[in-house]
Amino acid sequence: MANEDSEYVIGIDLGTTNTCVAVVVDGEVHVIPDEEGETLQASLVAFLEDGSVVVGNGARKEAVTDPVNTISSAKRLIGQAWGNSTIKQARQHLPYKIAKGPNQAPLLDVRGRKFAVPEISGMVLRRAKDIASRYLGQSVTKAVITVPANFNDTQRQMTRLAGELAGLEVLRIINEPTAAALAYGYGRDVRARLVIYDFGGGTFDITLLDVRHNVFEVLSTAGDSYLGGDDFDTRLAQYMLRGFEKQYGFKIDHDPVVRGRLKQVGEKIKRQLSNKERAIVNVRDLAVAPDGRHCDLRFQVDRAGVHKRFADIVQRTFLVCDEALANAHVSAADVQGVVLVGGSTRMPLVREMVEQYFTQPPLTDINPDEVVAVGAAIQGAALVADPFSPAGAHQPLLLDVTPRSLGVEVVGGFYDVLIDRNTAVPCEQTRVFATSQDGQTTVRLQIFQGESRVASDNVKLGEIELYNLRPMPRGMVEIEVTFAIDADGIVDVTAKDRETGIAQQTRVMVTAGFSDEAVRVMRRRNQ
Ligand code: AMP
Repeated sequence: MANEDSEYVIGIDLGTTNTCVAVVVDGEVHVIPDEEGETLQASLVAFLEDGSVVVGNGARKEAVTDPVNTISSAKRLIGQAWGNSTIKQARQHLPYKIAKGPNQAPLLDVRGRKFAVPEISGMVLRRAKDIASRYLGQSVTKAVITVPANFNDTQRQMTRLAGELAGLEVLRIINEPTAAALAYGYGRDVRARLVIYDFGGGTFDITLLDVRHNVFEVLSTAGDSYLGGDDFDTRLAQYMLRGFEKQYGFKIDHDPVVRGRLKQVGEKIKRQLSNKERAIVNVRDLAVAPDGRHCDLRFQVDRAGVHKRFADIVQRTFLVCDEALANAHVSAADVQGVVLVGGSTRMPLVREMVEQYFTQPPLTDINPDEVVAVGAAIQGAALVADPFSPAGAHQPLLLDVTPRSLGVEVVGGFYDVLIDRNTAVPCEQTRVFATSQDGQTTVRLQIFQGESRVASDNVKLGEIELYNLRPMPRGMVEIEVTFAIDADGIVDVTAKDRETGIAQQTRVMVTAGFSDEAVRVMRRRNQ
């Protein structure tokens, strides 16, 4: 395949905090460094005063000095609908402006311009693409992008759109834990039950897989989207705040700037304590006392003391592990390898507690920040491999599951589950819906993902309208609706008239999605 240069497929781990890109060259995985030799790029997009845009590590300075015009954590917002709790929280905590766009989609309002979230993620992906193109000496156009296992349909679709806007052909969207398992298990003739313990900045996820040769079967997955490294930072900030108030005798906890600064310091100290036993907290001019004195915060902390305050946060991850193991009817002792993913797994406390829980030391030979991108690159290479080459002959088979149940709203606002969570994908399920009124020519179905019995407590994916039905007495028209989830975890709905067998026309309105016209506009301005 000497001149098949353009067949390189990059694997991109599009993270909340950092993004990493890797590629397979001659059967070997390369985690790709940028011009500075860095393999991780901050997932930041800064809009400067002169109209230029800086993406990646170059935007780190702006994230601190000009957070209002620097978009961070776009992954938290992608595919979220205006009005849901994530957007509400983001509007409180994120420094930049989030505005309501058409069809419930949030827009980012920077320097008078409005951007859809996939446009911002697209800029981060374009940076990854450019880094890879420079490294490989040719323009790369194909990619596999990873998403958290618990991403719903809209979040996946919007990630795909982000890839497109970056000028990438997205061959596959794969789940981060499955990618991590691939990085460990592919081509090694492994037969094992693996756990992927992924502890990032804002979320915790656990996935249990069986790896048999090159078959990767997800048995169960569970997560907590409000548990992550941020919790340690907040805890440490609280501790420092109380220390300060005790030392100086006046309250400062009402001041959001002080709290923000302390959280940043907390994060730095937390990282330092992953490598050393002690760290010095030194914050100049933290607050001004009622008598006008400028007060600094300065003291020493040690790892053991701080980690004692963190143990209950780590312990919460094991409640989620209990759930994932119970769902798969497996005990912690049945696990034969624990793969660590995410920045928070660098903490010695996390490693010790994981070792205790699973009664074995975790696997750490692949960098936890790079392991997902490595797996994505392996999947990418396999997708385009010559079937007669060794790689092509041993295509990995990814048997993933859907992390949330899929269902529709029924009478009384209740939720009728069609596809249970933890069902292997791709999968499909058919239901028959009948008209309830004489002469009815349209039926609307509201589709949700989630576990609550009350439909509106779940995440609304969108509405499907079956229209142009035959006008008949009620109950006489029966429509067979098939709900399918593909290998990317994306939902597709088709319908047909049960009696005539004719395909029924459907219109899907994706909540927080974009109209074709809006996507065309985005494409044009992101050329
Ligand atoms: P991720 O979302 O995987 O990029 O993880 C980001 C989280 O990992 C943030 O909360 C970081 O503070 C945390 N993190 C990164 N490096 C370290 C480290 N050396 N020790 C402790 N936490 C870390």
